[in-house]
Amino acid sequence: MAKKRAGKPVRPTTQAKAKVKTKVETKAKVKSVRRATKRTARAKKYVYFFGGGKADGDRSMRDALGGKGAGLAAMTNAGLPVPPGFTISTDVCSLYYANKGHTPATVETEIAGHVKKLERAAGATLGSTKNPLLVSVRSGSKFSMPGMMDTILNLGLNDAAVERLKARTSNGRFAFDSYRRFVQMFGSVVLEISKAVFEHEFEAVKHERGVSLDADLDEQALRDVVVRYKRVVRSATRRDFPQEPHEQLAMARDAVFRSWMNPRAQEYRRIYDIPDHIGTAVNVQMMVFGNSGDRSATGVGFTRNPATGAKEFYGEFLINAQGEDVVAGIRTPQPITELKQVMPKAYAQLRDITSRLERNYKDVQDFEFTIEDERLFMLQTRNGKRTGYAAVVIATDLVAERLITQKEAVLQVDPESLSQLLAPGFDPAEWNAIPVVTTGLPASPGAASGQAVFTAEDAVKRSDEGTPVILVRRETAPDDIAGMFVAQGILTATGGMTSHAAVVGRQMGKPSVVGASEIEIDEDAKWCSIGGQTVREGDFVSFDGLTGHVKLAQVASKPSEILQVMSGELKAAKSDISRRFMQILTWSDKYRRMGVRANADQPDQAELAYAFGGRGIGLCRTEHMFFGEGRIPIVQRMILADTEADRRAALAELLPLQREDFYGVFKAMHGEPVTIRMIDPPLHEFLPKREELMVDLAKLEAKGVTGDALEQKLVLLRRVEQLHEFNPMLGHRGVRLGITYPEITEMQTRAIIEAACQLAKEGGKVTPEIMIPLVGHVKELRNQKVIVDRVAKAVMKERGVKVKYLVGTMIEVPRGAMTADQIAGEAQFFSFGTNDLTQLMLGFSRDDIGKFLRVYQDKKILDKDPFATFDVEGVGPVVRTAVELGRGARPGIKLGICGEHGGDPASIHFFESVGLNYVSCSPYRVPVARLAAAQAALAVKGGD
Ligand code: ADP
Ligand code: MG
Ligand code: MG
Repeated sequence: MAKKRAGKPVRPTTQAKAKVKTKVETKAKVKSVRRATKRTARAKKYVYFFGGGKADGDRSMRDALGGKGAGLAAMTNAGLPVPPGFTISTDVCSLYYANKGHTPATVETEIAGHVKKLERAAGATLGSTKNPLLVSVRSGSKFSMPGMMDTILNLGLNDAAVERLKARTSNGRFAFDSYRRFVQMFGSVVLEISKAVFEHEFEAVKHERGVSLDADLDEQALRDVVVRYKRVVRSATRRDFPQEPHEQLAMARDAVFRSWMNPRAQEYRRIYDIPDHIGTAVNVQMMVFGNSGDRSATGVGFTRNPATGAKEFYGEFLINAQGEDVVAGIRTPQPITELKQVMPKAYAQLRDITSRLERNYKDVQDFEFTIEDERLFMLQTRNGKRTGYAAVVIATDLVAERLITQKEAVLQVDPESLSQLLAPGFDPAEWNAIPVVTTGLPASPGAASGQAVFTAEDAVKRSDEGTPVILVRRETAPDDIAGMFVAQGILTATGGMTSHAAVVGRQMGKPSVVGASEIEIDEDAKWCSIGGQTVREGDFVSFDGLTGHVKLAQVASKPSEILQVMSGELKAAKSDISRRFMQILTWSDKYRRMGVRANADQPDQAELAYAFGGRGIGLCRTEHMFFGEGRIPIVQRMILADTEADRRAALAELLPLQREDFYGVFKAMHGEPVTIRMIDPPLHEFLPKREELMVDLAKLEAKGVTGDALEQKLVLLRRVEQLHEFNPMLGHRGVRLGITYPEITEMQTRAIIEAACQLAKEGGKVTPEIMIPLVGHVKELRNQKVIVDRVAKAVMKERGVKVKYLVGTMIEVPRGAMTADQIAGEAQFFSFGTNDLTQLMLGFSRDDIGKFLRVYQDKKILDKDPFATFDVEGVGPVVRTAVELGRGARPGIKLGICGEHGGDPASIHFFESVGLNYVSCSPYRVPVARLAAAQAALAVKGGD
């Protein structure tokens, strides 16, 4: 199975910060790596030892050592029991790629020195027949990628060493179990032979011996497995299984580097915005054996519950097992609390160590351990991934326990957690009325309902068609990640709370129920049976990720507890999570510099935004109001009018309706500024589609209808054809409408100012900000401003009230941005319309990008969708320029952003760095933006 790689990856060094990278930096790094390669790179340290209570590295070195390597170094330095080993730094991964898939000879020498050092520490020698050293080879990048890269265990075994291991331990079963695992892992990971081929042989031996459990195979059977595996390797690679441990080690190391670019690792990085260029480290570590008998075990755990955040010791273990057995879902593991009975001393030590780790890292730890003959070894620790719910609970608890400060809590919570908390649940009444068909482990909370699919591909296919799906699998594997991403929820039959499905589900904030063992699945035939009922692809399945209950029905979901508190349905005092949610936001506000506004056109949206802490409206799209009840015919009459007089008549009818809209929105914002954008879209959007009209006409004609009805349709069709544009987005829209039909600007201004006057008279407060869209030339703005000021003055005179208002513009046409100094001469504020700006800067239609975006991402031409995450490198300089020009011409000019990027944390980071006054986003994103803006302010202040 040859590895396919799309293009050559860029491999700069790794000191890179995750967030925002520019091409310039990347190029410089590639150069420096090349230079380093040529110069033979002697000066630099590439390999870091850990063992005997001392490590070369430390916990701050995640860039070079990866998360796992840094954790191993930190635990070693803290005097914890960690098997000795060394970490080959991420720089070597870059060198490997820059060097066309070879590790430079100088690094090889440095590694050889560390092997010697490890041999001394372990008291065993790699390749020795007397006392062979066995190691694990483990990948580990800066950001943990669960299950993405494969670990190789028991490396160093060969035909001679396995006999030594047997003799030394007097346990032939154990020795050959270790060997067969090694050959299989090495075969699949390094030699790239399909796992299924090995599994087939394994099953064949089990079948021959008439056993069903792996553990029931005796030494002789396992010897047979090894013979078969070696035959598999020989026929697949045309050479014998490599017996030389140094060669095994070099091959495994390079395979780890290669696995960095495997498709599932790339997919994972794409979803989680992890840059491709940072590379992975390789950890080589002395083996300890959890599979050496009944006084041995292996396990994983968390210092707090990662699903609910509750402060409880949490995890699973398996007696007489190795490595991935716990998470692979082959045997069902025991809850970690049971370890207390089985091995009380090791348990007590584990609790003690892990709570120390939590205190040191000031965060929940996700740890891996192995017990060999009742001796505990720590193999990994890292900050635990958690659900959004748990993130909020844990951060607020840690503050209450005085383990972290409020500021640290603000930095700890991923802003997306807050949006997970606003995710819907089921209506309890409806949900409770449906019988439970089975119960699995509640791995990740949230209500999920959709049609059952049994493969990741089907999940993607159906959800592309707009169908909500539930991915039902025996267990999930990293290959399933694309399907998991699009599914409403993930349901598996095997595996525990730390299985792949559980870990990934929690991280994605995806409702997940795992280990629902009563489900029998035939993934190939695409059906399963649950509690005696057959579920086929397309049948509805629903589950609650907080209780683990699974039901066969389509169930509508319900707003989150927090939304219920917001709407007053639930008393705030009754909701613990809502109190914590508010706490995080209140703390955020202390560190936030930018304001957060909302994009809202309706009073109820404005109310919600205000309740979420939105202070002001950054974008009120007036045209949305035109679609309100009974308004479209009036709008159409305005558009169809042949004369100005007719148009004015229609506008006069719209006036009171718009005034009412504005009044409602102003009131809902409690005196905070409201930015109202004048009509923006091309007018044809308000008329029926040409094709539809033609069909209607054909129908009327077929029925023999004549006269007025037919005539009206014909007129409409003619007008639609007149308005037809080849590029409506570049056509007659935005300020161009106001210039050609000044009466529209007049009516909208009148509605705004009348509403403001009315509110002012009632003692209310409001500051309307009238925003002219799509300005590219200062004269366009000047033209409209004259109208706005004239009408405003007239209205205030009529009403006998004075209100304060501002006139400004959207900066969304590149020419407008580049002449922002001139425009600022007229504009009292700018709001960056980054949707249009992105569209016009990249020349990508935001409505058509879907056709090629995915290909662009697959081919690594674009990392991210530029409409979702602001293109700092390409569009950023234009925003920066406009900010500087605008402030130069009008110091104190108000600057904001109202494009979709206003709710995206990475984009918010950029807006903070250019010093905008506020971001504006959809009401539901307001909490996310408040937290993200606080984090950005702290990062920018801290020199990030
Ligand atoms: P992942 O990144 O997927 O968690 P790891 O490198 O942590 O992979 O390895 C997976 C498991 O392999 C560990 O949790 C541990 O059980 C086992 N393992 C790794 N190294 C050793 C070792 N030196 N001795 C014993 N078991 C090991
Ligand atoms: Mg691990
Ligand atoms: Mg626009």
